[in-house]
Amino acid sequence: MAIATIDPTTGKTLRTFATHTAEELEAKLQLATDTFATYRQTQFAERATWMRRAAELLEAESSRYGRIMTEEMGKPLEAAKAEARKCATACRYYVSKAEGLLRDQPIEVGGDRAFVRYQPLGPVLAIMPWNFPFWQVVRFAAPALMAGNVGLLKHAHNVPQCALALEEVFLQAGFPKGAFQALMIETSEVNRVIDDPRVKAVTLTGSEGAGRAVGAAAGRAIKKVVLELGGSDPFVVMPSADLDRAVETAVTARLINNGQSCIAAKRFIVAESIAADFERRFVERMKRVTVGDPMDPKTDLGPLATEGILKGLHAQVEESVKAGTRLLLGGKPLERPGNFYPATVLADPPPKAPAFHDELFGPVATLLRARDVDHAIELANATPFGLGASVWTRDEAEQRRFIDGIDSGMVFVNEMVASDPRLPFGGVKHSGHGRELADLGLREFVNAKTVRIS
Ligand code: NAP
Repeated sequence: MAIATIDPTTGKTLRTFATHTAEELEAKLQLATDTFATYRQTQFAERATWMRRAAELLEAESSRYGRIMTEEMGKPLEAAKAEARKCATACRYYVSKAEGLLRDQPIEVGGDRAFVRYQPLGPVLAIMPWNFPFWQVVRFAAPALMAGNVGLLKHAHNVPQCALALEEVFLQAGFPKGAFQALMIETSEVNRVIDDPRVKAVTLTGSEGAGRAVGAAAGRAIKKVVLELGGSDPFVVMPSADLDRAVETAVTARLINNGQSCIAAKRFIVAESIAADFERRFVERMKRVTVGDPMDPKTDLGPLATEGILKGLHAQVEESVKAGTRLLLGGKPLERPGNFYPATVLADPPPKAPAFHDELFGPVATLLRARDVDHAIELANATPFGLGASVWTRDEAEQRRFIDGIDSGMVFVNEMVASDPRLPFGGVKHSGHGRELADLGLREFVNAKTVRIS
C-alpha cells in the first residue's frame, strides 16, 4: 500500500511519500545503533529534560498536530487536539516515575548482596496503527526513551505526516538525532527490520492478523515482542446500574474516535429485565448523533479512516443481518464523498454472525440480552478477544463476580474503559500480550539483570 495522505472526508489524495531506498534504511538502522551506544549512557535527569520539553511542544502545538491527525485519519478535530495534549501527560508521567521505577531493586538472600538492575535493550521497532496516530506512538516512545532505548517507528501507511511530526517533536525537544526515527517502509520490509541484529525488540499495536505475522517474525528472530491487538469489548449493564449514565456512556464508548478504538465498547450485554428500556433509549440517543466534516466542531462522528475499512465494516453488517441479526438503526454507507458510515445498532446476533464474534471497527453497536450474571459473563467471554470490559452494576457482589469472571486485560466498573498513563494497558487471548503504560509498560523493554555479589 502506498504511503500517502488521503483525506477520508473527501477521498482525495493530498500527498504521497517515497519509501526509503535500501541505503536509506541501512543508514537509519546504523544511526539508531550508533546513537544507542551513547544515549544509554545519558542520565535520567538529562532524558527527563528532553521529555519534559517534548510534553511542552505537544501541548503548544496541539492545534497543528490535531489538524494533521484529522486530515490523515478523520477523527474530530477537538479530539485530535486533545490526543496531542494527552501525549504530554504520558511524557510527564515517565519524567516523574522512570528513575524510581528503574532503580536497582534489592533482594534479600541472606548474607550476599543481590539486586535486579534494569538496563535498556537497544533500538526497538514500533509498528503502529493510524487510529490514535500520536497517542499509540507516544505511549511506546515515552517509557522506551526514558529507559534508555532508542525508537524506530514504522507507522501505518495512511498517517505519514503524523510519523514525521512525531520525529520532529523528539528532535526539537533535544533528544539526539537517531533516538527516535520514523521509517518510511512498506509492510513487506518489516520482517527484514525485525531480523536485523541491530534491532533488539519489537512492539506492535494493530490487528490480530498483523499480530500473528509480527509475533511469528519476532519469534523466529528470538526477540522480545509486545502485541496490543484488537478487541470486541463487552459493556455489561445490570438492573442496579444508573441507566441514564450507562446509556450516555455507552454511546460515547461506542462512537469514540469514529468508532475506531480497540477499547471502544462494541457489544452491549444488558440484563433481560432492563433490555427493552436500554435498547429504546440507546437507539434514540444514537439517532441524534451528528455525522459530518471532522474539522467542524459540531460533528460527533466523522468518516472512517480508509475506504477499505468502510467496505469491510459494511460487509460485516450485511453478513450479520443475513445471519438473522436485527438491524435497528443505520446499516448503509452514506451517499456522499468520503468514508462515512452512520451510527448503527444491531441486536440479538446469532453466534455465527460477525457482530457476535468479530471486532466491528466502526460506529456499529451490537446489543445482546443476558439472563443473569453467569450468562452475562459467558457472553462477555464469547469472542476470541480479551482487551477491556466495562461493567455497570451497583451491587458489590456482582462487581466481584465480573472482575473475577471476565477474561480481559482490563475491567472498569461503572466507567468506560480508557487509557491512562498511570494504569497498565493491554489484553489477553487474541488481544495480545504484554502491557503498555504505568510501571509494567516501562519494564517491557529492559533487561532485568540479576546480580548477586558474594
Ligand atoms: P493493522 O492493519 O494491523 O495495521 C497496524 C500496523 O501494522 C500498521 O503500521 C500496518 O502497516 C502494520 N502491519 C499490517 N500488517 C502487517 C504485517 N503483516 N506485518 C507487519 N506489519 C503489518 O491495523 P489497523 O487496521 O491499522 O488498526 C486497527 C486494529 O488495531 C484494530 O484491530 C484495533 O483494535 C487494533 N488496535 C489495538 C490497540 C491496542 O492497544 N490493543 C490500539 C489501537 C488499535 P500498514 O499500514 O503499512 O499496513
